[in-house]
Amino acid sequence: MQHFDLTGKVAFVTGGNGGIGFGMARGLVAAGARVVVAARNADKSASAIGALGPNASAVDLDVADEASVNTAIARAVDRFGRLDILINNAGVNIRKPPEAMALAEWQTVLNTNLTGAWLCARAAHPALKAAGGGKIINIGSMASIFGAPFVAAYSASKGGLVQLTRSLAVAWAPDNIQVNAVLPGWIDTELSRNARKQVAGLNERVLARTPAGRWGTLDDVEGIAVFLASPASDFVTGAAIPLDGGYSSQL
Ligand code: NDP
Repeated sequence: MQHFDLTGKVAFVTGGNGGIGFGMARGLVAAGARVVVAARNADKSASAIGALGPNASAVDLDVADEASVNTAIARAVDRFGRLDILINNAGVNIRKPPEAMALAEWQTVLNTNLTGAWLCARAAHPALKAAGGGKIINIGSMASIFGAPFVAAYSASKGGLVQLTRSLAVAWAPDNIQVNAVLPGWIDTELSRNARKQVAGLNERVLARTPAGRWGTLDDVEGIAVFLASPASDFVTGAAIPLDGGYSSQL
């Protein structure tokens, strides 16, 4: 299907060396794109690009560091001569009641999940515009729309990411850049496996609360990444799409 063909396109995936980012990178490669996996842990990135094959490469990136973001995006553009797709997926969570959270912990979460996405989008914008248009996909969460006692910083960052998505979509529509958010429900990754260890009964609650009756898998994240990265979504912008097995549709 030509609508979903990414041949010739170059994608930059933050946190693409594991979890949801890796699943999305795998989908983009399968659709024909060349993918740059960008994260801090070089060993993890090396094994990710080994698994993704010859159309994948890696750059070091700390999304919370402005200079690192600018250097990593510049290196990706230099390496491939263009940039068409940015996936802002890098994210962290520090689970604590709001009254027990230190300012440094709050800042770590906000700087990674929200400020990092804006820094990457700002750095990518000139190359996306020069390519005649592009796609930005921001990875939110169910915490973009719901609250919980242990996720004040995380939900603030992920709610903010949806509003950032809408503002970038409006600002850059004249440049033919579509900006959308994906709001995953519970997906089985390292991050959510840690949550299962830290929060007693979480596994059972997720299964009971998710109409699909299961955790999401990396296979589940591939399709939406390809859709939002491809011409199939050229008239979709500013949207925040749940990827949640019905979690957010159920009272
Ligand atoms: P993982 O912990 O498996 O992956 C997160 C990735 O982000 C890692 O590869 C990590 O790589 C990278 N990362 C973290 N901090 C930075 C940083 N400062 N700079 C660059 N890269 C960074 O998590 P998931 O795959 O589960 O999560 C991916 C995204 O999806 C996150 O934004 C998360 O909030 C969101 N999400 C996940 C859900 C789930 O159920 N799994 C549900 C809803 C949302 P490295 O350490 O090498 O830098």
